[in-house]
Amino acid sequence: MIITIDGPAGTGKSTIAKKLSEKLKFSYFDTGALYRSVTYALIKNKIDFEDTQKVSDFLKNDFIYEIKTINEKKYYFVNAEDVTQIIRSNYITENVSKVSSKKYVREKLLSKQRKYAEKNDVVCEGRDIGTVVFSNADVKIYLTAKASIRADRRFKQLIEKHPQDIGTLNKSQILEDIKKRDDQDSNRTISPLKKAKDAYLVDTSNLSIDQVVKKIIKIINKSKKMKFGYRFIKVLSKVILKVFYRFKVYGLENFTKKAAIITSNHVSYLDPPILTAAIKEELHFLARSSLFKVPFFKTILRNLNTHPISFNESNLQTFKTIDRILKRGKKIVIFPEGRRSEEGNISPLLNGVAFLVNLTKTDIIPVYIHGAFEVWGRNRKFPKLFGKISCVFGKSIKYEEFENLERNKKNEYILHRIDNSFNNLKKWCESGFTGPIP
Ligand code: C5P
Repeated sequence: MIITIDGPAGTGKSTIAKKLSEKLKFSYFDTGALYRSVTYALIKNKIDFEDTQKVSDFLKNDFIYEIKTINEKKYYFVNAEDVTQIIRSNYITENVSKVSSKKYVREKLLSKQRKYAEKNDVVCEGRDIGTVVFSNADVKIYLTAKASIRADRRFKQLIEKHPQDIGTLNKSQILEDIKKRDDQDSNRTISPLKKAKDAYLVDTSNLSIDQVVKKIIKIINKSKKMKFGYRFIKVLSKVILKVFYRFKVYGLENFTKKAAIITSNHVSYLDPPILTAAIKEELHFLARSSLFKVPFFKTILRNLNTHPISFNESNLQTFKTIDRILKRGKKIVIFPEGRRSEEGNISPLLNGVAFLVNLTKTDIIPVYIHGAFEVWGRNRKFPKLFGKISCVFGKSIKYEEFENLERNKKNEYILHRIDNSFNNLKKWCESGFTGPIP
């Protein structure tokens, strides 16, 4: 699970993210420390921030960043030097926004940040985590607080942790500095600080750290419940399917509890709502990213937990999302034919499904949807008002069955098993829905 916390300086991000990660037993990732460490290393090596080539080469070849946890405290190392303290000094704070606004810096640091969450459940904090780094995060939080309050907090923090930096600094200078940094972070062209559309806004001005943590835990628990939009579409689909299409579901005993990839034949626009109505638990879907370009579809797709997939852009994020969803024990629906069938029959299966099964090492649950083509197949502009639609779950195809096969054979085997299953389920439906489900 990935939880992102973004927001300007002084909103309590670090303390809150740390506490939250302890409570949830998640890893904690402070991306600000990474930008600070880069700033420190560039200054130390006398590299001009504006020198694109030198900065890029340095980050590529000579910047080794490590995070170590010692006695539950995080320590940051740049090329084996412990920089934990020095990166919080005022000199670094004054310069970090100049470095972080550079496109070539942000691009280089993106993969470092994404790698961190590959294996871990993580609370990750920064400026662009919910909008750019983990735009598919499970829960996104955006913290705000009045600038004057943030300046008070920063002043207190300096007195406690870096008294040597105070010098002639007073609160109003810190306020100016905070406003300047807000301005630089929010108005830079690349990855500016802003609230992700789907982030929860939490104003920490008048809340204690514990109160904020409590509030975020509530938000996380709420997000684990079925989304209102999803529940709404599910109930509506069920009512319509039952009233107009004598909807029946068979083989639910084959619907295992653990994570799985559900593969379904695809004959109609109705297929996703049919599956949503057939199964109690919340499902996730994949759909061509081009469908997300139409705002109306985008809203429905998002509410139905649909994740965009495309084969020409970087799909890495989608695969990671899929992996994360499955790791949480959820199920993903794939239509392995890739598009709705022309005549209602089973089209050849594409390789994508085998690739995903191999990548995620997951069991497959085959499903056959019967009757939806007659109601609203490719040959009809509008759906028929009455008809009969059924949905049957076949025996699951276990990953152990084929895990030891050689890679190419594995793909072939997966496609063959799904195709076989579709055909057997189709026959079962056509012969009157009786007898044991294949
Ligand atoms: O969070 P912290 O104050 O330590 O961050 C220091 C600076 O690092 C920020 O002011 C911002 O310029 C930069 N930063 C960023 N993107 C992030 C995290 C931090 O640009 N994800």
